[in-house]
Amino acid sequence: RSHAEKFEFQAEVSRLMDIIINSLYSNRDIFLRELISNASDALDKIRFLSLTDKAVLGEGDDAKLEIKIKLDKDKKILTIRDRGIGMTKEDLIKNLGTIAKSGTAAFLDKMQTSGDLNLIGQFGVGFYSVYLVADYVEVISKHSDDKQYIWESKADGAFAVTEDTENEPLGRGTEVRIHFKDEASEYLEEDKLKELVKKYSQFINFPIYLWASKEVDVEVADEEVEEVSDEEGTEGKTGEESSDEEETESKRKTETIKETNWSWELLNDVKAVWLRSPKDVTDEEYAKFYHSLSKDLSENKPLAWSHFSAEGDVEFKAVLFIPPSAPHDFYENYHTSKATLKLYVRRVFISEEFNKLLPKYLSFLKGIVDSDTLPLNVSREMLQQHSSLQTIKKKLVRKALDLIRRLAEEDPEDSSDENTPNDKNEKKGKYAKFWNDFGKAIKLGIVEDATNRARLAKLLRFQSSKSGDKLSSLDQYISRMKPDQKDIYYITGQNREQLENSPFLEKLKKKGYEVIYFTDPVDEYVTQYLTEYEDKKFLNISKEGLKIGSKEEKQKWKEIKESFKDLTNWWKDVLTSEKVEKVKVSNRLAGTPGVVVTSKYGWSANMERIMQAQTL
Ligand code: ADP
Ligand code: MG
Repeated sequence: RSHAEKFEFQAEVSRLMDIIINSLYSNRDIFLRELISNASDALDKIRFLSLTDKAVLGEGDDAKLEIKIKLDKDKKILTIRDRGIGMTKEDLIKNLGTIAKSGTAAFLDKMQTSGDLNLIGQFGVGFYSVYLVADYVEVISKHSDDKQYIWESKADGAFAVTEDTENEPLGRGTEVRIHFKDEASEYLEEDKLKELVKKYSQFINFPIYLWASKEVDVEVADEEVEEVSDEEGTEGKTGEESSDEEETESKRKTETIKETNWSWELLNDVKAVWLRSPKDVTDEEYAKFYHSLSKDLSENKPLAWSHFSAEGDVEFKAVLFIPPSAPHDFYENYHTSKATLKLYVRRVFISEEFNKLLPKYLSFLKGIVDSDTLPLNVSREMLQQHSSLQTIKKKLVRKALDLIRRLAEEDPEDSSDENTPNDKNEKKGKYAKFWNDFGKAIKLGIVEDATNRARLAKLLRFQSSKSGDKLSSLDQYISRMKPDQKDIYYITGQNREQLENSPFLEKLKKKGYEVIYFTDPVDEYVTQYLTEYEDKKFLNISKEGLKIGSKEEKQKWKEIKESFKDLTNWWKDVLTSEKVEKVKVSNRLAGTPGVVVTSKYGWSANMERIMQAQTL
């Protein structure tokens, strides 16, 4: 368009588009899901605004919150039209080209290492996936604050924006026109499009229509039939062989012929999954629902889910999913992590960024919450303050921890047959996978959530002097405790090998006491907060004050200590008080002559190492 204003894509976006348009990535289907998801987001936005201002919806067709897809086979164009919020000229420029989303660089990295485009939607750049199938795209959009504009690009580093004086007025919303590449002819089939919408967009909460053809039988009078068969193959009539039929009542001859009818065919079932009874929803449907929520298009199934409704003062329905793996930046961005539960109030989508529904350590969960108790016609800010949210949160946390506990019980880490060393990892139970990806989150929970500390401690897994290659739980530890053993012993350090050879272990091993190996830096924090489990104290065996043994033994030790007093005093003088606090005789060693220990109240040596690493 000659009078268009030209823009350059932001550098990273341009790089991304380059990669996409030249990609040989085989799963190009994802483009449709991304565009439908954008249409759905835009519809959510206008519906949300309409809660406080009904007038924004307009009247007649404008008020219909729907998505329409139309294929022009001859021109090789697919249009996806929504009656969502639309984009102003400025929105078009910013959202589709000049603003780099925070995920762009991360996604470029990821794509270069894995070549996998599946997760594009999760990185906030899903729109550009359209260039997997298109060499030219037009986006026509009308927002209530602006005129109608056309955005267009051939993915050649630039895009153009023009005021739209050529197309029909949209009223409100957006139409994306995809001009297919020659190699994308598979998408020129209605059936293919239907299949894709059903596969990927089943759980979109707005009706999705396809302009679809249908062969119908029509009865026509004999004379007309003659005419039709003369013009075999003309538009709208297939001219297929039709059989003569005797219409006895009217005594007139009629024939049945095939005719092609065009209409808007509804492709999705808009009844929300969470409103259905759990027993009517198949595992397959849950998996698909998870994929639609998480924008994860891989075939990986969620590890587990919980679908429940809460009654009482605060009523809500919810579905929670444990993802198949941790989000790419979950731990890196832990403190700024966004909540990932979608909040609905009476079926209306309110927000995805509600940070009050789950504590941080559970923010890896995906899911939705739909409450009838929360008010609809207030702002998001007011809603954030609503007292019912606390109750909802409490119940969600309980349910989430139940879900994780069930996973641990039903599919424990060592559920497999040990005699299959070849595919050790595959044979591991789901909880092993869970622990590998989310164990750290559970540990952070122990630190952060005093109320649920005991429940979280139950989920803890670790290696120990008796665990072998497997992981153990605290319950298992307790079941293995010696009759005279009162406390839970642990030691912290960098890795198992280092700890196994620690002199601190000698005496305990000799007595047959089990010692937990805590090797994750976060374990140091965990042990500061988790001081007891089932009335048993946690004792760090590398700290002073470790008491092992009976009364008589203790008495004997007192005497021995006395007799060595001269030696220990001399030693302390030699080492000076800057280097050590005290020197004493210890009963914790068996073979090694001496060790350096940390005081009961100070940091463990391992913690000092961690703190040093952090300040560097
Ligand atoms: P994301 O959807 O994750 O934000 P996309 O790359 O898919 O990332 O889309 C970029 C932005 O473009 C969206 O955030 C939205 O602001 C805008 N956008 C895309 N499609 C539409 C549409 N159909 N209606 C309104 N805005 C849209
Ligand atoms: Mg998107």
